[in-house]
Amino acid sequence: MNQLVLVVNSGSSSIKYQLVDVGTGDALAGGLVERIGEGGEGSLRHDGPAGRTERTQPVPDHEAGVRAVLDLFEEVGPSLTAGGLTAVGHRVVQGGDRFTEPVLVDDQVEAAIADLSPLAPLHNPPNLAGIRAARHAFPDLPHVAVFDTAFHHTLPDAARTYAIDREVARAHGIRRYGFHGTSHAYVARRTAELLGKDPADVNLIVAHLGNGASITAVRGGESVETSMGLTPLEGLVMGTRSGDVDPAVIFHLQRVAGMSTDDIDALLNRRSGMLGLAGANDLRDIHDAIEAGDGDARLALDVYCHRLKHYIGAYYAILGTVDAIAFTAGVGENDDVVRELSLAGLDRLGITVDPDRNAGRKKADTVVSPDGAEVTVLVVPTNEELEIARQAVAVASA
Ligand code: AMP
Repeated sequence: MNQLVLVVNSGSSSIKYQLVDVGTGDALAGGLVERIGEGGEGSLRHDGPAGRTERTQPVPDHEAGVRAVLDLFEEVGPSLTAGGLTAVGHRVVQGGDRFTEPVLVDDQVEAAIADLSPLAPLHNPPNLAGIRAARHAFPDLPHVAVFDTAFHHTLPDAARTYAIDREVARAHGIRRYGFHGTSHAYVARRTAELLGKDPADVNLIVAHLGNGASITAVRGGESVETSMGLTPLEGLVMGTRSGDVDPAVIFHLQRVAGMSTDDIDALLNRRSGMLGLAGANDLRDIHDAIEAGDGDARLALDVYCHRLKHYIGAYYAILGTVDAIAFTAGVGENDDVVRELSLAGLDRLGITVDPDRNAGRKKADTVVSPDGAEVTVLVVPTNEELEIARQAVAVASA
């Protein structure tokens, strides 16, 4: 039987969606509503069986965004009201201590997601707006919230604890939560499958390198260390986020540069990373600039790969033995130079990359290490929508 799930990822000014057939794993349709609530026209893009449909129309809020999506489904297909929709799966960024698994959304769950908003002010409120709008549109369907943090609920205390005053930390929920959990969970399970092993029997390092980026050490199917912390700002160098900096940079900028908290938040989250270092957040532009002799772009790529290697070495030490390293998301799947540079010189750890296997973009699961390598290096394209859809079906049918 077909089990169709509408997966909704609702951001501050956008709604990304996909209709997933959990039985086959196929996406039957998907699209994006952008510029929600920004005053002018919103833009809509829908890919379905009839091809791509694009339009602009006023989208004042998420309620209107969800309604516009449903109208598109009815107009150009596939119809969502014709039956067959099993559940709606919602991506929620911060589940805090409360949500360690996906849950069926009810009014209490909505209230708890709202309560967690101080920990994720940019993400949880728009996630919730999408949930409310979709519950309004489909009051009779099960709605399931799937949390980015949930996969990391197994982080040991030593990995999740910041060395700050424990009373302050407890009072304000300050600890490492980790993010991108849905992707790390999907890729870890798929990697074990590709190795022909039970997830319980393998140690893995999963590098999710997209515009946001994080890396996770997975022991026996459980996250035991991850690079994002209280928020998705910590860790690797990202498209526009700094990743790790000395926290004193912030006090320095306040005292010496006279910047406000909001200025520094915007600096570190939106104007740093590759964009800050080289003027472009997209690795394709960075490579073009390097080709043209741009020294800033060269340095940006070196900083990016250096930080990544630093974490790979650290996670090797945490795990003790590593069966495989899996690269995923936009950069991890497409950028052979990043894969090569971040693993260069790690032969003594059993980590090598075969240049021919590694070359080029990977649209499918691909082993890029040589046969017989101690550590298998792979590219495993992520599929967060399928993972959310599977989890939604599991919860809805429990
Ligand atoms: P994601 O957030 O997973 O969609 O990843 C988006 C990022 O992937 C972009 O900002 C680029 O940096 C990177 N990317 C996409 N395509 C390529 C490519 N062909 N080569 C290198 N990087 C790419």
